[in-house]
Amino acid sequence: MQTDKVKELDEKYHMGVYNRLPLVIKEGKGVYLYDSEGEKYLDFAGGIAVNALGHDHPEVTEAIQEQSEKLLHSSNLYYFEIQARLARLLVENSSADKVFFANSGAEANEGALKLARRHFYNREDDRREVIVAENSFHGRTLATIAATAQPKYQKPFQPLPPKFSEVPFGDLEALERKISEETAAIMLEPVQGEGGVKPASRDYLAGVRSLCDEKDLLFILDEVQTGIGRTGSLFAHEEYEVKPDIFTSAKALGNGMPISCLLARGEVSEAFEAGDHATTFGGNPLACRAAYSTVNTILDSDLLSHVDEIGSYFQNKLEEIAVEFDPVNQARGMGLLLGLEVENSPGDILQSMLDKNVLVLTAGDSVVRFAPPLIIEKDHVDKVVDVLRETLSELS
Ligand SMILES: *Cc1c(COP(=O)(O)O)cnc(C)c1O
Repeated sequence: MQTDKVKELDEKYHMGVYNRLPLVIKEGKGVYLYDSEGEKYLDFAGGIAVNALGHDHPEVTEAIQEQSEKLLHSSNLYYFEIQARLARLLVENSSADKVFFANSGAEANEGALKLARRHFYNREDDRREVIVAENSFHGRTLATIAATAQPKYQKPFQPLPPKFSEVPFGDLEALERKISEETAAIMLEPVQGEGGVKPASRDYLAGVRSLCDEKDLLFILDEVQTGIGRTGSLFAHEEYEVKPDIFTSAKALGNGMPISCLLARGEVSEAFEAGDHATTFGGNPLACRAAYSTVNTILDSDLLSHVDEIGSYFQNKLEEIAVEFDPVNQARGMGLLLGLEVENSPGDILQSMLDKNVLVLTAGDSVVRFAPPLIIEKDHVDKVVDVLRETLSELS
């Protein structure tokens, strides 16, 4: 089908919630995507930080093929070996004691908020308020948009669930002032993703951990975007040497199969009782098989040190560009979640790079974001940097 025809069908039958680019993606292989007209694109969007191992990774594809012939689904009424093994893999390789599987980032975050409430309910403690950061992004369900402190996501959907309050990201004193007798938890992203690729400082996260310890609060980290190797560790909080009480992950977990998880340690990991929380699809055998294969492949290879190395190589190149071009203010990020803050429209840059067969993302109103597959090599970075340079020269 021609792009125009697909676009026509979409406009007629799908709700118009996506500002889509004029591409019909047909296939992916490694770090490349192919459209319906046969054009090839270097994919530095990575399905929004999802395709950590790239497209059609042999091990993941084989695992899914094999599992699809055996069993797709039969509900959490029964046990599944692959779900139990994935649970062990994630717990043994993280700071968590227990895991719960869900389907999306927002759903994992909802679970985190419920778990925090259940913890205080168990203690007959009335604290319910969750403090979040300005410019956060935690998802699109009602509770997670309440936690997403950005008016553009919240305004048309009032009233939102209560008991969320916000503080500027990175300001420990403001956070300390905000904590009251009502406060139950602090929820943050280690690197704000949609909010503009802003890594927390080490002092900030360590400070939040100390405040939580001091005041007996739960520290929740949303690692939906930063988890599963994106920053050079399985979870970004390892880079910070800080242990959250609850954390979530999703995007890259299944390398494209929809699966997310909620992890917790210590007392709070035992807070839910049977019947408190559930999902029909969450952790189904097909999704778990894909996730097991993805996580196992990442841990079994030298991919995490590769992310450190290629991530600094890429970030250095972006910093050079920030010095070279006036409308570019700053390059920042962690591992392979990188951003370039620009004065001209990041959307124009994205469009112009697309015309040159390179796919990138934006974040907020002023940032071009890169979340490529973790398997990229230096020549892919060089290519993207060349195209970016060319684009910035044209636009200036
Ligand atoms: C993408 C994202 C979410 C939402 O995940 P969905 O799977 O779209 O529900 C939540 N938090 C962060 C940090 C994200 O990047």
